[in-house]
Amino acid sequence: MRIYISADMEGVTGLVDAEDVQPGGRDYENGRVMMTEDVNAAVRGVMTAGATEVTVNDAHGPMRNLLPETLHPAVRLIRGRPKVMGMLEGLDDSYDALICIGFHARAGAHGVMSHSFMGHEIEDMWLDGRPVGEIGLAHATATALGVPVVMLSGDDAACAEMTDWDSGVTTVAVKYARDRFAAELRPIDEARQAIERAAAHSLTSRATGAAATAHRTATLAVRWQSTSVAATLLGIPGVTSVDSRTIQADGTLPDLYRQFSVWTRVATALTDQGPYC
Ligand SMILES: [Zn+2]
Repeated sequence: MRIYISADMEGVTGLVDAEDVQPGGRDYENGRVMMTEDVNAAVRGVMTAGATEVTVNDAHGPMRNLLPETLHPAVRLIRGRPKVMGMLEGLDDSYDALICIGFHARAGAHGVMSHSFMGHEIEDMWLDGRPVGEIGLAHATATALGVPVVMLSGDDAACAEMTDWDSGVTTVAVKYARDRFAAELRPIDEARQAIERAAAHSLTSRATGAAATAHRTATLAVRWQSTSVAATLLGIPGVTSVDSRTIQADGTLPDLYRQFSVWTRVATALTDQGPYC
């Protein structure tokens, strides 16, 4: 049984502020330790449940946050960037399940460090007219590839967002949002044990190997803060204008996810604001 873990940072146990999750931040080095330990808890859980191979994709910011030397020795780590599929780099139908660790709610939701892919530049996103962020887009893309999402950890807002997309996903709230940069934390050991138990349970409670829906065409729309980003992206064939700040494109989901990574790179070049996922 092959398991893929996408590891973000904003939803990691104990972390509440940009100082915790951005390189150079006062507590970033500690944040890396906390992120690595949440991932290790999930890896222990899936190994207990019979996983034979675990790939972890470091999916936050510079994508070099996890500490390779203290990561569970069974893990194959995908590290660094750019990666054409970003937070889902390398995911394909050879995996039996996707687990999301340290995820956060979408831009506009009242969750800890909520945002969608970029800290400020993306105001809103919609998939087939439905508000979407990193959680919904990961779920839709994995499903299109035929890989079921079985578990997610993050704050309570991230868990609620996942449940809204798919009530069959096991969720673990490691903290409860008080505001965008404040939370009530679960005790650290308790949170990690909950992740470990849920990871094991999620593989036995849910049938793995969902039917792929990759043939289905979807529409992804993004409202940018900057009209300049929207105008520039209209130069890509297939991208159309919704209004001066909003553009959209149609495609099958793995392709659309990949194209979206190009959009964020264009936005980064124009605004000098790096991805903050
Ligand atoms: Zn992130």
